Amino acid sequence: MAILVVGSVALDDVETPFGRRESALGGAATYFSLAASYFIDVQLVAVVGRDFPESHVELLGSRGIDLEGLQFVDGETFRWGGKYGYDFNARETLFTHLGAFAEFQPQIPASFRKTPNVFLANIHPRLQLDVLEQVDRPLLSALDTMNYWIERTPVELRAAIEKVDILIINDSEARMLAGEPMLRQAAARILDWGPEFLVVKKGEDGAVTFSKEGIFAVPGLPLDSIVDPTGAGDSFAGGFLGYLAASGDRSSHGLRRATIYGSAMGSLCCEAFGTEKIVDLEPHEIEDRFQEYKRLTHFEHAPILLNA
Ligand code: AMP
Repeated sequence: MAILVVGSVALDDVETPFGRRESALGGAATYFSLAASYFIDVQLVAVVGRDFPESHVELLGSRGIDLEGLQFVDGETFRWGGKYGYDFNARETLFTHLGAFAEFQPQIPASFRKTPNVFLANIHPRLQLDVLEQVDRPLLSALDTMNYWIERTPVELRAAIEKVDILIINDSEARMLAGEPMLRQAAARILDWGPEFLVVKKGEDGAVTFSKEGIFAVPGLPLDSIVDPTGAGDSFAGGFLGYLAASGDRSSHGLRRATIYGSAMGSLCCEAFGTEKIVDLEPHEIEDRFQEYKRLTHFEHAPILLNA
């Protein structure tokens, strides 16, 4: 059992109040792959330039990620720069240099085409549709997107969303996508387009999962130390889909557990710069974090007579 991911692999320059890193391994597909690799085998399809350091390739390989679909082309690797203040939900993008990523045409290796689980990270929706055409119909498919595509390519994005089982986006994106300010109504509209589940990420404030059966909300876990939230959303997606794909459990209980594993991976990611924490986790750290969420959200009903 494996999951195929298509998206960005990048070199990131990141600055937070706690330090900075230059040319660090980043990219949505990178974070997703690392997080998902604790649950299931991962097949990565992405593009990088010849400047992409061998040490980063080795790091991805160290988690057993299948790199047959990682294309090396002439030109520079996608570079992204971001800066955070103490409000980690607000970040400033300093630059986006697409480099080789601008011409990215995902080529799904023959050995990946029957993979039963597919995650389309944030790329042009036309490419997301193209990937879905290249693979045999997966059992589980999901996509992420961003404001940029919601504004510029709404028709192609809608066509891609109609074809996947799960949409994973931020709350502001969900509202913008549905053209509906109330999250619950926005979710109902998006689910009407076809996806079975909608996962709304709310940064430090947790996540909400919507399905026809109902809603599940997880608060943000107050962490002892947030160092760098870059990649938390993609790590969430990796934990969420990694668990769902590995367990095959799409019941409401399975969906809830997936939401907690996603939250666990997203929160662990924030505790160090870039990929530094999620590249080297012990399984018990993920389980401990899962239990922490359980304790955080547990309460018991003690009926009292309310003053009528
Ligand atoms: P997140 O913090 O989950 O939004 O993910 C941040 C990662 O997304 C960084 O490692 C960036 O390299 C990558 N990224 C930033 N902008 C884009 C973009 N326009 N397309 C694809 N990936 C991006």
